[in-house]
Amino acid sequence: MTVAVVGSGYVGTTLAACLADLGHRVTAVDIDESVVETINAGSVPAHEPGLDELVETHAGDRLRATTRSDAVADADVVFLAVGTPSAPDGSVDVAPIADATRAAADALADVDDRRLVVVKSTVPPPEIDRLRSILDDRAGDAVELATNPEFLREGTAVDDFLSPDKLVFGTESAWATETLASVYDRLRDGERVPIVDVDPETAMMVKYANNAVLAAKVSLANEIGNVCKEFGLDAYAVLAAVGLDDRVSERFLRSGVGWGGSCFPKDLSALIAAADAEGYDAPLLRAAVEVNDRQPERLLSLLEAHGDVADDRIAVLGLAFKPGTDDVRNSRAIPVIRGLRARGADVVAYDPVATEPMRELLPEVTYADSAAAALDRADGAVVVTGWDEFAALDDAFDRMDRPVVVDGRRVIERRDGIVYEGLTWPA
Ligand code: NAD
Repeated sequence: MTVAVVGSGYVGTTLAACLADLGHRVTAVDIDESVVETINAGSVPAHEPGLDELVETHAGDRLRATTRSDAVADADVVFLAVGTPSAPDGSVDVAPIADATRAAADALADVDDRRLVVVKSTVPPPEIDRLRSILDDRAGDAVELATNPEFLREGTAVDDFLSPDKLVFGTESAWATETLASVYDRLRDGERVPIVDVDPETAMMVKYANNAVLAAKVSLANEIGNVCKEFGLDAYAVLAAVGLDDRVSERFLRSGVGWGGSCFPKDLSALIAAADAEGYDAPLLRAAVEVNDRQPERLLSLLEAHGDVADDRIAVLGLAFKPGTDDVRNSRAIPVIRGLRARGADVVAYDPVATEPMRELLPEVTYADSAAAALDRADGAVVVTGWDEFAALDDAFDRMDRPVVVDGRRVIERRDGIVYEGLTWPA
């Protein structure tokens, strides 16, 4: 099939490259010239394991990128995968997705054969009708709207996309469902992937509900973890046992310094704001956010329990919001670093891949080239991202002046010579 993907961020680039790999001819559209040049040169604008190989293989052949929004005119299916960032009040800023819908509608104004415009971006259900109206008003009758939320995780995006747990189609006709099914026809083990076929608004609510359940589960694990810590107990032992209950499962019960990234924080606040606009205050969702917002401060108070940090050199290990990605959006490292600086500490930060994005956000911080260099002469260290390499630092801790290590992700082994403190487990 001929497919267009509008928006070439984490989701759009993964979608475009994977669809090219499945055999479709794909045009990737982005308003950012540098992103388009990077893709056409066979590279990837973000760190995502396996994605660079796919883009390198298909760029210039089945995958082409352009800044021209009218390039979608040839596509049987147009995916809209632009960002849906938070507005200052926590609701979704729908301007980029509305702009992208308008541009696609104009490009498809004169087509006679049926075309599908698929909202891949995460958009609150009440906003879908606005996009439907844009298409109805500007595109020809042959153009139909569908939604198809994405469940991939950064860091494992390619594998998640090619081997999903489910496909959720929000469609308004049997033709739209069949068209989407053809797009995904050749997924790895495709015949085993359940298809949930619902209306466009319900499909988007599945996405928000999915993220709300996962984020709230982690926040509940963190709340239980905080109580365990107060009792001198190990939350990992407690929650491992809880996870053996198959109504719960052991996934997403790792307690620590909290969730970040572009999805959980944004989607929870969007859901809270959208519910609020309908007159429903969502107390449990608000509590999930509140528990999450408190975890970085808990990490810092554990560090401070071992001495004042003013004028101390403190190593921050990990800047990405989770291992496997260079995405620092809403990373817990941001409140941790800000909290340390507010206390007068001299922060030296390290991450294997996310230093440059964090440097753009927090240029005043000192960045080290290795974890060992960050620990050198440090008076304390906090672990914020659970990168595997932090588990193998061993001798590097000997370089610290005052070896107090507060682990927010349970990656460091307790060892002689360091004062070790776990966020939700005993010292
Ligand atoms: P991103 O910020 O990484 O990328 C968005 C891209 O869209 C940017 O390259 C930007 O230049 C481009 N863009 C903005 N307006 C445009 C326009 N009018 N026309 C063309 N391009 C335009 O975003 P992302 O993380 O890829 O997320 C995209 C959507 O997918 C969001 O709605 C997000 O909530 C959802 N989502 C993200 C993830 C994830 O893990 N990142 C997972 C599932 C769903």
